[in-house]
Amino acid sequence: MLNAKKSAELFAQGSLLIPGAVNSPVRAMKAVGLDPLFVERACGSRIYDADGNEFIDYVGSYGPAILGHSDPRVTAAMAQQSAKGLSFGAPTALEVELARLICCAIEGADKVRLLSSGTEAAMTAIRIARAATGRDKIIKFDGCYHGHSDALLVRAGSGGMTLGVPDSAGVPEALAALTRIADFNSIESVSRYFAAEGSSIAAVIVEPIAANMGVVPPKPGFLPELVKIAHGAGALVICDEVITGFRLRFGAASQILAIAPDLIMLGKIIGGGMPIGAVAGRRELMDLLAPAGPVYQAGTLSGNPISVRAGLETLKLLKEPATYERLEAAGARMEAGMRAALRRSGAIGCVNRAGSLVTMFVGIERVENALDARKADTKKFAAFFRGLIARGIYIAPSQFEAMFISLAHTHDDIDRTIDAIGAALGETAA
Ligand code: PLP
Repeated sequence: MLNAKKSAELFAQGSLLIPGAVNSPVRAMKAVGLDPLFVERACGSRIYDADGNEFIDYVGSYGPAILGHSDPRVTAAMAQQSAKGLSFGAPTALEVELARLICCAIEGADKVRLLSSGTEAAMTAIRIARAATGRDKIIKFDGCYHGHSDALLVRAGSGGMTLGVPDSAGVPEALAALTRIADFNSIESVSRYFAAEGSSIAAVIVEPIAANMGVVPPKPGFLPELVKIAHGAGALVICDEVITGFRLRFGAASQILAIAPDLIMLGKIIGGGMPIGAVAGRRELMDLLAPAGPVYQAGTLSGNPISVRAGLETLKLLKEPATYERLEAAGARMEAGMRAALRRSGAIGCVNRAGSLVTMFVGIERVENALDARKADTKKFAAFFRGLIARGIYIAPSQFEAMFISLAHTHDDIDRTIDAIGAALGETAA
């Protein structure tokens, strides 16, 4: 039995001061019948809570921690940078260096604007697309999450799916009315909108590999066809690579998937664990942004030197040989182990994976979109989650999230995780 006395105390105090005691709803553990564990520190593949419990961590700060936590090379670079000042409100050489690195790594990215979050990246990309096309409507996919701006909080994946609220209160109807919802992996659901109102659609925004309804890879041909239809109607394609950027290869995942989006959103990994977001794209679109052009976007801490330095150091380390082969091997080991554990336990479930992003859906045999994902057995998932936590394995407290494997996870970590999964599944089935 886990000793969570200090976490329970902090939860009680936090509940009086912070809505739900968390500063982002995905950190709550309500959906799995627990109170959140308050974290004290993390190192490599491990995370430690306020009661001193140690877990093998697959949340990885929801994506940024691809090297593992607190890589000493990154923290040393940040310490060195922070001695020079924390934020200047003026451009730095570091920003030019990170922009160059991103533009070299991502085909079709002539320029990049650094922001403070993925949410801002989505807001900015959509504003650029609306300005470039002179159109207002956007298409997004059910279950894809692009941050919490008004127009995009419609059928927005993990957080809402976990809490069972597809849309947010407080979003003006007039704004939500500009957003069309298509089904991931269904080209028909997209072409229907273009046939009906193609001339008023500014952009389609998509996670090229969906990771906020659990991991759902695109079917072959889905994304290329999507780009063809959008471009045929004069609309732009925005690839949200806030999770997938630099996670599956050194650059954008859209390149592996043989598509050339007009705008690419980045975040998470490129800030090495510090707040960041980015929009990249071809020159004429990016130069619509102020002060070069008429599309306004700004940020007191945009391109923050500590974030940029942490990102630069992280990307430098990701460039080392065999990085992505190692992540793929770790992902494949996890997938094979999960499938074997499912077979042995007799539990119904399936495993979706893209490189080091993995989701095991409980109670359902195939997931290709959010409609499928919602059929997962969330009660059984909750029991499965509790079984893992009790065995020292920390995954996101939601069926609709990815497990993020890092370079710090050893084969031994993964094998221990698979053993725990087997045992937790056995209990869940019983
Ligand atoms: N886009 C995707 C695909 C995400 O997963 C997220 C966050 O999880 C965002 C955008 C929003 O990023 P942020 O939380 O930095 O605002």
